[in-house]
Amino acid sequence: MERDYQIVSEAEMARQREFAEAVRVLPHRPQTYFIVTYGCQMNAHDSEKLAGMLEEMGMVPAETREEADFVIFNTCCVRDNAERRALGNITWLREIRKTRPELMIAVCGCMIQEPGMAEKILKQYKFVNLAFGTANLYKFPEMMYEALESGRNTVEVDTHDVIPEGLPVQRVRKEAAYLTVMYGCDNFCSYCIVPYVRGRERSREPSAVLKEAEGLMKDGTKEIMLLGQNVNSYGKGLGNGYSFAKLLKELDRMGVPRIRFMTSHPKDLSDELIEAMQGSRHILPQFHLPVQSGSDRILEKMNRRYTRDIYMERVRKLREAVPGIGLSTDIIVGFPGETEEDFRDTMELVREVGFDSAFTFIYSPRVGTRAASMDGQIAADVSTRRIEELIALQEEIQQQTLKRFLGQEEEILVEGFSKRSDDAVSGKGRHAVSVTMDGGPGDIGEIVKCRITGLKHNTLMGERV
Ligand code: SAM
Ligand code: SF4
Repeated sequence: MERDYQIVSEAEMARQREFAEAVRVLPHRPQTYFIVTYGCQMNAHDSEKLAGMLEEMGMVPAETREEADFVIFNTCCVRDNAERRALGNITWLREIRKTRPELMIAVCGCMIQEPGMAEKILKQYKFVNLAFGTANLYKFPEMMYEALESGRNTVEVDTHDVIPEGLPVQRVRKEAAYLTVMYGCDNFCSYCIVPYVRGRERSREPSAVLKEAEGLMKDGTKEIMLLGQNVNSYGKGLGNGYSFAKLLKELDRMGVPRIRFMTSHPKDLSDELIEAMQGSRHILPQFHLPVQSGSDRILEKMNRRYTRDIYMERVRKLREAVPGIGLSTDIIVGFPGETEEDFRDTMELVREVGFDSAFTFIYSPRVGTRAASMDGQIAADVSTRRIEELIALQEEIQQQTLKRFLGQEEEILVEGFSKRSDDAVSGKGRHAVSVTMDGGPGDIGEIVKCRITGLKHNTLMGERV
């Protein structure tokens, strides 16, 4: 099958490394950087790549954005509030610029990829030195060099779909690493802007993914989070019959201690994937499976391509194969035309499944998506009331579902000190539920066994064994 995307050539990647070196020796380049990241794990991982390139250019991280010579906003546009927050913070930085004229500002990520946004930045945000889209990420060193040498504002937004391999990565957490397996999305859920700003779905070669995983293992990584907008459709378009389940099996055999992945689409949750989880030693017993709505009428308008029954059947199958599996989801309320009855269907589904956690959102119209021009947009007060009801229900249910861990042993990958106490640490168990337990600095980054002794709000409390 002919591919409609390109892997960026070795020669081009080498050319970018030369630009990074050229920036490094410029006497007037910034010395320190600070990255402000909005949005999903994909963006968080892009920021790690930006940091990798910045360090190749000779820069070091600043403690705060006020102190940095160079501030980069890695933006999100999935919902209006993420976009407004980013634009507000960018404007605020203009004030800092008044006292520090040498301050350099860049804006990148999904928002820049929106139609008309690059022009808006050029016209209304003239103080921004550099703006580039997600497709241009790998060209950051070249754009940086040009911006510094010309002194002009540089804006670059490509729309072609590429896969850049071998970018340097400066990871925030060494023990738990992100690993992108695929880019873009072809699903065109009617509310969602992602397919417009992240391009067509494209999978990395299995050999490239496995090589990166091997490198991470050698560096002592304990948990790998495989990333993709629709991670379980990995392999489509490679033309060799390779599937996400097959990739998981290979990673499992490799012996990566803990493997997680997100995000999965219910329509692509195959029996093969469930079997891969069932027979695995290292794939964690947890699954993030966004349902979005419990109403078939709304699911159809959302273009989700599954019904409530199909979703429930997948949940049943997952639970049969992996008893006690931790399930989480995403839900949107106030989608155009959502009636009180549709909303009740969502509430009922939440009750029926019993998720360990749920990310809940008020529908936010996004220009260019089909849902934005649908009839029956829901009034803000109705959506607000619905989300409050939904959150209250989920909290009540979570209190019940999490009780199954009481008295059980869990292995925690410790992330850091607990917010509540200096003698306690917290992290995630194998089911992706947060656990706080007694511990100290030596535990951070380690997998520690504990017994679950209590439940406070939505956090499990544990004692080490
Ligand atoms: N590809 C993933 C999926 O399908 O679940 C994640 C995409 S998106 C970054 C994460 C979540 O944002 C979605 O699952 C959806 O619940 C929510 N979302 C996307 N577009 C939205 C919109 N226009 N308004 C409100 N929530 C939205
Ligand atoms: Fe957006 Fe749907 Fe693609 Fe997820 S699957 S990124 S919600 S279009």
